Amino acid sequence: MSNLKRVLENVGTPDFGICVKCKQTIPLGRIFIRPQSLLCVNCAR
Ligand SMILES: [Zn+2]
Repeated sequence: MSNLKRVLENVGTPDFGICVKCKQTIPLGRIFIRPQSLLCVNCAR
């Protein structure tokens, strides 16, 4: 839940949709499906 809150707080900021590990852009589709994910597909697996 804390991760989801972090994501929501980042909406509209430059950090929104950026992987916390590799700083790559996370596809919006992934964010909406798994909003708690702060990692891109490559880093999460
Ligand atoms: Zn990543």
